[in-house]
Amino acid sequence: MKYVCNACGYVYDPAVGDPDNGIAPGTKFEDLPDDWTCPMCGVGKDMFSPE
Ligand SMILES: [Zn+2]
Repeated sequence: MKYVCNACGYVYDPAVGDPDNGIAPGTKFEDLPDDWTCPMCGVGKDMFSPE
């Protein structure tokens, strides 16, 4: 499931991951490290909602 950032609209797609921050493709949002932040605006995981 994709998750969208409530602050800036960035969409985390688990099929893509976040390679720039060491998150491999296929990583579920739930499995991101607790200190992962939005690559666009820097807010934490608690600011994301399921798309
Ligand atoms: Zn954001």
